[in-house]
Amino acid sequence: MSNTDLMPIAGAIDPVPVARDITPRPDGRVDLIGLPKKRIAELFAEAGLDAKQAKLRAKQVFHWLYHRGVTEFEAMTDIAKTMRPWLAERFVIGRPNVVEAQVSSDGTRKWLLQTDDGHEFEMVFIPDADRGTLCVSSQVGCTLNCRFCHTGTMRLVRNLTPGEIVGQVMLARDALGEWPKGANDTRLATMAGLEEEETAAEYTADGRLLTNIVMMGMGEPLYNFDHVKQALTLVMDGDGLALSKRRITLSTSGVVPMMARCGEEIGVNLAVSLHAVTKDVRDEIVPINKKYGLEELLQACADYPGASNARRITFEYVMLKDKNDSDEDARELVRLLKAYRLPAKVNLIPFNPWPGAAYDCSTPERIRSFSNIVFEGGISAPVRTPRGRDIDAACGQLKTAAQKKSRAERDREAASEAASEA
Ligand code: SAH
Ligand code: SF4
Repeated sequence: MSNTDLMPIAGAIDPVPVARDITPRPDGRVDLIGLPKKRIAELFAEAGLDAKQAKLRAKQVFHWLYHRGVTEFEAMTDIAKTMRPWLAERFVIGRPNVVEAQVSSDGTRKWLLQTDDGHEFEMVFIPDADRGTLCVSSQVGCTLNCRFCHTGTMRLVRNLTPGEIVGQVMLARDALGEWPKGANDTRLATMAGLEEEETAAEYTADGRLLTNIVMMGMGEPLYNFDHVKQALTLVMDGDGLALSKRRITLSTSGVVPMMARCGEEIGVNLAVSLHAVTKDVRDEIVPINKKYGLEELLQACADYPGASNARRITFEYVMLKDKNDSDEDARELVRLLKAYRLPAKVNLIPFNPWPGAAYDCSTPERIRSFSNIVFEGGISAPVRTPRGRDIDAACGQLKTAAQKKSRAERDREAASEAASEA
C-alpha cells in the first residue's frame, strides 16, 4: 500500500496526474482486505514466518476473510491461539466506515461511507423480486463532468483502493447477514449501521440477497482500472467472494483505450453510458466524447471481448427532455447499433433530478414512444424504474454531503450573504 505511483486520470477531458494511494495507517498495521492471497503470504513471510508457514496461514486467513466474513483474527479458530495476537499486532481486517445508512420507501438502501483518511463515498443496494444488486463506487468524486450527473459536479478526490472497493461488497454482506453461520452477526450488523433485529429478521432467510454487482456508483471505473481489477478479481475468485463474472457489470462513460483490457483482464459484462447519438449532443452532455468520439466508442464495443448475443452490451440512455429524446434520435440509435452489428440492449433511464440540474426528465409519453421505436428496431429497450429517489440513491444522484459545494461556491455564497446583510 506504499505505492505512490502517479496515474494518468482525465481531467475535464485531458489527463492530469493524480496520486493514487492512501495515507498509511498511523498505527503501521496493514489492512489485509483487498490484497491477493499471494501478497498476504509475502507479508506474513516479511513479518517472520518461514515460506511454507506463510503460504499455509495466508490460505487459512484468506478463507476466513472472504468465505466467513470474520473481522477479527480471534475468530479464526483453526489458527493457533498464540498466533492470533501475533496477526492482530501487525494486521487489520478493514471495512469502510459507515457514516449513515438509509432505507428508501421502495426498499433501496444507501450507505454513506468513509475511508480511513476521511473521504466520503456512497454505495447503494437495490432489492428486486428475483435479484439483489449492489451498486459499487470506484472513486471519491469523478474527473469527468457529464452535465446531467450529480457526481460529475464533484471534483475527483481520489481513487478508491482495492480494499475499499471489495470492502463495499463485504460490508453489504455484513449488513444483509449473508455470511455463512458462525460469523458474529450482531457485531457485523452494528458495523454496517443497521439494527440487530432488522438484520436477523429480514435477511438471514434465504442467504442469497446480494446476487449482482454493478460498478455504477461514484466515479469512472476505467480511470481506476488497476484497483477495480484487483477488487473484482477477489469478488470473482472461487476462494474469495465467488460471484460469477456474469453477474457483474462495469459501466463506463466511454474510456475507449481501456475497454479491451476490461474485457480481457476482468471479463465482466459491459455497460456504456451512450446517452446521445450525435456528436454535438454527446459532446455537450458526456464531454469525454470530445476525446473519444461516437465511432471510436461503438467500434470498441463491437470489439469488446466476450460480447455475444448471449452476453449483450448494455447501452445506457438517460432521457432528457428536448435534448436527446426525439423519435429521430431513437431511429438513429437503432441505425448505429445495427451499423456496428452490436449485440446490444438499451436501458432507458428517466433522468433523476438533483438541485441545480440543467435538465428535465422527458415526459412518460416521449419515453414510451422512444422505447417503442427501439423495440420495433429489434432491440430490447426497457425503461428503468427509478429506485431510491426519496433518499437520493437513484442513478446520478450520488454526491456526498461534504462535497456538495466547492470552496469557491461557499466563498461566493458567503460573500453574497454578507452583501445582502450589509
Ligand atoms: N461513471 C460511470 C458509472 C457511474 S454512473 C458511467 O458514467 O458510466 C451510472 C449511470 O447513471 C451512468 O449511465 C450515468 O450516465 C447515469 N446517470 C448519471 N446521472 C444521472 C441522472 N441524473 N439521471 C439518470 N441517470 C444518470
Ligand atoms: Fe462521472 Fe459517470 Fe457521472 Fe459521468 S456519469 S460524471 S463518468 S460518474
